[in-house]
Amino acid sequence: MTDRKKVFLYYNSSQELETKIQDLRNLGKKYEFQLVQDAAEADIIASIGGDGTFLQAIRKTGFREDCLYVGINAGRLGFYTDFNLSNLEGIELGMKSNIVEVHRYPTLDVTVDGKQHFQCINECSIRSNIIKTFAIDVYIDGLHFETFRGDGMVVSTPTGSTAYNKSLRGAIVDPRLKAIQLTEIASLNNNEYRTLGSPLLLSGDRELVLKIIQDGNDHPIIGADNEALSIRHCHEVQVKISEKQIKTLKLKDNSFIHKVKRSFL
Ligand code: NAP
Ligand code: MN
Repeated sequence: MTDRKKVFLYYNSSQELETKIQDLRNLGKKYEFQLVQDAAEADIIASIGGDGTFLQAIRKTGFREDCLYVGINAGRLGFYTDFNLSNLEGIELGMKSNIVEVHRYPTLDVTVDGKQHFQCINECSIRSNIIKTFAIDVYIDGLHFETFRGDGMVVSTPTGSTAYNKSLRGAIVDPRLKAIQLTEIASLNNNEYRTLGSPLLLSGDRELVLKIIQDGNDHPIIGADNEALSIRHCHEVQVKISEKQIKTLKLKDNSFIHKVKRSFL
């Protein structure tokens, strides 16, 4: 880490946070880190807040591959946040010792109607934005797999498997696996409509295409992590594992398994 010294701090400002962050700034100075105002210049982008803030930090800075993302939690430890703002000793130790390591997390490449491209680190979700159901034709590697009717579908990454995916009874996936998971949000299953009904975990080299059936309710909301995309008319959403990964700094003794245990058991 010694030659990567330009740091950008991403956080939602509040009085309480500012005081704590001042201590972090002082610590950074001691180790000759330079704070930059423009994220594009940074070698390290540190988000301060929860997992939601980490997701925003990545999105707002354009899913940069050439920098290191660090999650510093302002409350409880999360899935993307290994460091704690209230434990400056822990951060200091991380700055100077070998208790940290770099992890690479798979992301999703999402293309809407063949022209608009987005990346996601948790999931891409498609949901009805009115009280009625809507229908999706699901294609896997070009094969028509099923026709879904219900509230929506979620395609998640391994690190996203503990978020929305988990609420939909999807499996938790070790981020060492490059896989994508498709889950349903309240599918209709009757003599007219039939879907798999269970989460589907696919190899990372497959391509999923979700075609929205144009039958009146064809303006679903498309979500990229915690942001709704401003697309009104959408016909086709293509999802695959991206070539690009996000690099994050992690504590060695805080593995994915530790996090799952700490959060859910
Ligand atoms: P939010 O509605 O405030 O957060 C939902 C919760 O998910 C928060 O506790 C958040 O942690 C946590 N979270 C985010 N990413 C996670 C991950 N990879 N593993 C485990 N927990 C995670 O919205 P937000 O904080 O901006 O987070 C956005 C995420 O919320 C979306 O990407 C989606 O996965 C999830 N979500 C879940 C549901 C659901 O379960 N029904 C519905 C919509 C969205 P923090 O408190 O640390 O931020
Ligand atoms: Mn949140």
